Amino acid sequence: MERVNLLDFDLDGLTAYCAELGEKRFRAVQLFRWIHQKGEARFDRMSDLARSLRDKLELVAEVRPLSILSEHASADGTIKWLYDVGQGNAIEAVFIPEDDRGTLCISSQAGCAVGCRFCSTGHQGFSRNLSTGEIVAQLWQTEHHLRQRLALPAGQRAITNVVMMGMGEPLQNYSALLPALRTMLDDHGYGLSRRRVTVSTSGVVPMIERLRDDCPVALAVSLHAPTDALRDQLVPLNRKYPLAELLRSCSAYLDKAPRDFITFEYCMLEGVNDQPEHAAALVALVTGRGGAVRVPCKFNLIPFNPFPASGLRRSSKEQVMSFARILQDAGIVTTVRKTRGDDIDAACGQLAGEVQDRTNAQQRMTRSVIRVVPTSAAS
Ligand code: SAH
Ligand code: SF4
Repeated sequence: MERVNLLDFDLDGLTAYCAELGEKRFRAVQLFRWIHQKGEARFDRMSDLARSLRDKLELVAEVRPLSILSEHASADGTIKWLYDVGQGNAIEAVFIPEDDRGTLCISSQAGCAVGCRFCSTGHQGFSRNLSTGEIVAQLWQTEHHLRQRLALPAGQRAITNVVMMGMGEPLQNYSALLPALRTMLDDHGYGLSRRRVTVSTSGVVPMIERLRDDCPVALAVSLHAPTDALRDQLVPLNRKYPLAELLRSCSAYLDKAPRDFITFEYCMLEGVNDQPEHAAALVALVTGRGGAVRVPCKFNLIPFNPFPASGLRRSSKEQVMSFARILQDAGIVTTVRKTRGDDIDAACGQLAGEVQDRTNAQQRMTRSVIRVVPTSAAS
């Protein structure tokens, strides 16, 4: 019988599971804190947990880490991990340190079914949804590994922000995503504030509405085009949920969102969506002059990370800057994403690059650069 992976549970789930074992809620809280706050995977080390519970857990449960295929550290401090999730599938997580924060970018699916033109994960196709435990393990493992590696003082977090911007469309894996988000926010878990956890979506409208009601964290929406005609080409999901509907759901989301704006991501593709008329149409769109509802927003322009099969090119720096200026002149806060970890292919949309050849997992395993297993998970 397969053991129950305790990383699959948020605190309510763990409470229900402990109840099945005949244990009270406060035991679940203790257990949850051992796992997520202390990074402990071994029940026999959870010293204040009743012996009887430890013995029961030993028989039926585990805290299951992801197995690491490789780790690449960039000169700028960015670290990328490639994990094996079985059957030749691999996913990635990236840690991006900055002066005032440490951001972890995590994956929600192996592959992605949305199939955006400019995304190498999309080109790879969809393999499967990650479980809650696999989503949470990316954070659990990395946080506790980095605390040791960076020799952080007790109680100091390595990861202060989480962005669901790795592989996959998080809102197409909603049932696994929700307990994972709740674990990130839980004071007995990682205690991250709702504004420090960002879900990025290509625009799954009904699920934006559900997220708003269930767990309204910060929302980033991958826009990439100002018109349905162009967005239909770049983000095929637009044919199902066109711009007017998407913007309506963004506006409704703001009623409960932890921030008073939506972040629109916009991948800059030379000659495709980067012309002054595109910028002008975007301004009209989000300010409500195009007929859609007005959405208070910020723009994050992402220089396209090219990959051979895309047939697309990155916009020049000048083009990106003049595009940004048009948005800024209209009063819209606009940033250009710094490309981090370029030397290790950790930049956006590159995350699938290495795993495209899924048949070759074994070979990749032998090629992996450094193998790192957090101590709590290794034992
Ligand atoms: N599926 C979600 C989250 C994962 S993609 C979404 O689409 O929002 C995270 C971000 O990376 C998205 O904004 C996506 O558009 C962007 N992206 C994907 N491929 C890229 C590429 N090749 N270059 C630059 N950005 C890319
Ligand atoms: Fe999927 Fe996001 Fe890539 Fe589109 S950009 S294919 S939604 S991961």
